Amino acid sequence: MEQKGSKSTWLVVGHDWAVQRLQNQIERGRLAHAYLFTGPAHIGKQTLGRALAQALLCTSDTPPCGVCRACRLVQQNRHPDLWVVPADGGILKVDQVRAVEADVARRPVEGRFKLFIFPDMHLVQPAAANALLKTLEEPPAHAIFILTAPTAAALLPTIVSRCQVYRLRPLSRQVIEEALLQWSVPPDRASQIAGLADGRIGWAWQAAHDDTLLPRRLQQARDLVELIYTANRWQRLQAAKRLAGDSHQASQVLTVWASVWRDLLLLHYQLTDRLINVSLLDQLTPLAEALSVVQLRQALVRVHRTQRYFEEHVNMLLALESLFLRLPRLRRTTF
Ligand SMILES: [Zn+2]
Repeated sequence: MEQKGSKSTWLVVGHDWAVQRLQNQIERGRLAHAYLFTGPAHIGKQTLGRALAQALLCTSDTPPCGVCRACRLVQQNRHPDLWVVPADGGILKVDQVRAVEADVARRPVEGRFKLFIFPDMHLVQPAAANALLKTLEEPPAHAIFILTAPTAAALLPTIVSRCQVYRLRPLSRQVIEEALLQWSVPPDRASQIAGLADGRIGWAWQAAHDDTLLPRRLQQARDLVELIYTANRWQRLQAAKRLAGDSHQASQVLTVWASVWRDLLLLHYQLTDRLINVSLLDQLTPLAEALSVVQLRQALVRVHRTQRYFEEHVNMLLALESLFLRLPRLRRTTF
């Protein structure tokens, strides 16, 4: 649960229970050797990982202070005792894990700990996962591993069992709005972004700093509406093919579409006060009336399933083609 008024100095918005638990472990000297932070994209997994690294490497009396040299170097990925190992070209490769393996036994350069952050653990090659597993089985006392992934199900159970797992959940709209206001985003814009963020603080931060993000998101939602009115199979397959070429964008589009289907279900039940895509109300209302609850639910389930396929490396083109062909079809009516 989100708590308010936490006194922690961690530069993390929300996820107070996780911060509290980690802070307690640091104070008692009872850290795990490996942590796994799971949750949807942009929810704050990496920020929490980095904050944990700061808390352990900070040289002030009140770690993490956020301003000492160590804290700043962690923030910039330049601390000598911090390794951040992102996927290389969409894959976390065995060579990357081997490089970590070769270094892990060496003593830390500056502090007591050495931190290894793997932000895309779900993109790991099987050989790399096995190599990492060996390291996780007998880590040296100074080594702490921080893995992040959308879900634990995307990883080898043997890796998950070596980790302390933290399931991060979407933040409330209010927590996100307050954070945006603290970042000096004007109130109107803060409220709009918080409404669209769907609990993802990282997305809200991006939207506040990138003016193209909101218009792009709106277009992605409109594209879905357009496809529902597109009966032509070939056109649907072409649209799937275009999207499959860009996995990053495809993942964003699926998140937006999930929010549209969720809104359509809410509209169907006339629950209009919790809508996310408020600016599309005129286009969504006729869809919610014309489609059955079964169709709406199926469509939402299919989008969620496709999101899972992405995390599990299923062939993206096939997954998107199947999704696009099965979207409900409607004929546009003119009044
Ligand atoms: Zn510090």
